[in-house]
Amino acid sequence: MISCSLQRMEDKIKTFSRFGDTGKGGITRLSLSPEALAARAEFQKRMEAIGATVVTDDMANMYATVPGTENLPAILAGSHLDSVKQGGNYDGVLGVLTAMEAVETIVKENIPHKHPITVMVWTNEEGARFEPAMMSSGVICNKFGKEAMLASEAKDIPGYTFAQALEESGFLGSKENRMSADKYVALVELHIEQGPVLEQEGVEIGVVEGVCGMVNYEFAFVGQADHAGTTPMKYRKDALYAAAKTIQYLHDELDELDSKLVYTTGKISAHPNIHTIIPDEVKFTLDARHQNPEVIKQVVEIIKKIPSEVEKCKASYEEAWSRKTVDFSSELVKYVEKSAAEFGYSSKRMYSGAGHDAQYVVDMIPSTMIFVPSVDGHSHCELEYTSVEDCLKGANVMMQTILHIDKQ
Ligand SMILES: [Zn+2]
Repeated sequence: MISCSLQRMEDKIKTFSRFGDTGKGGITRLSLSPEALAARAEFQKRMEAIGATVVTDDMANMYATVPGTENLPAILAGSHLDSVKQGGNYDGVLGVLTAMEAVETIVKENIPHKHPITVMVWTNEEGARFEPAMMSSGVICNKFGKEAMLASEAKDIPGYTFAQALEESGFLGSKENRMSADKYVALVELHIEQGPVLEQEGVEIGVVEGVCGMVNYEFAFVGQADHAGTTPMKYRKDALYAAAKTIQYLHDELDELDSKLVYTTGKISAHPNIHTIIPDEVKFTLDARHQNPEVIKQVVEIIKKIPSEVEKCKASYEEAWSRKTVDFSSELVKYVEKSAAEFGYSSKRMYSGAGHDAQYVVDMIPSTMIFVPSVDGHSHCELEYTSVEDCLKGANVMMQTILHIDKQ
């Protein structure tokens, strides 16, 4: 079987890790920053060198297409080149690099394919500089209004808008170039797992069936602010204690649900947050994720059992936002699984706990994802690492999946 090249894969990873290199093993490559523009230029140069035509759309998403033997809609593969501040060399970029390597192999080995193949770069996936995350796939797939997105302000330059960054980038193209259902037949996005499961279980490829649904609740507790030295315990209305009791209740109850459920209290505030005053107002969040909507319903039922008064404090909660489980194309999921098996790689079906551009794209064209192991599960940090051998396996599965789609 024809394999992608380990040497070329390594060269791609090394080259792209220079754009925004922090010198500590990672990158800061915020969307449309000079570092990100340099990475885009390198992408364009390399794709043109293997015969691709590169165009951009009105959100500066890039599409590098090599022709097929027939006049058919193209097969899309890609991800994003932007990173969070002090992020790693794999999140997003590896989806672009493995797609580049897959297409380069197909071109150099003269592997016949009917469909054109397009390697894609999404603009501003991270939302680290301009909120929100998955901005451009969101605009193209009608999740966000474009005008509101253009007005998004950079976190690093006050008053500098996404519209200005687009204008100045040199990558602003036309709306006609946007991804659409008539021009593209399928999307495959490879990503690092960003969790420890594949590595822990010794599995080489994650066959991603979808993206977990989630709910995010905000809780508030109102007590009475009094002096920490003069108020006997029995007279207190301590909102932080009420919140702590509730967090414990949530953990006790949620731990009884399905073991794949993940939940987090990542944000908490206490007022007045002074060491000599009993807190009178405490708020915290709960983010809960699971692939099965029934389990998410059970989470909400547990939340709804919280009484209106906890430890003499007024308790309330509300849903801040939620996202339904996204299921990828079962046909494409099978192709990924089959491709891994054809190369002799072990694989495991799983759901993504993190959000990705593909979850929006699936509303327009059949989509799926491939995961490769993340060492120690680290991501969004400089410790993020996937061995070049594992990256190559991902590129091979990507290539084989593209070829299966081509034959369908
Ligand atoms: Zn990513």
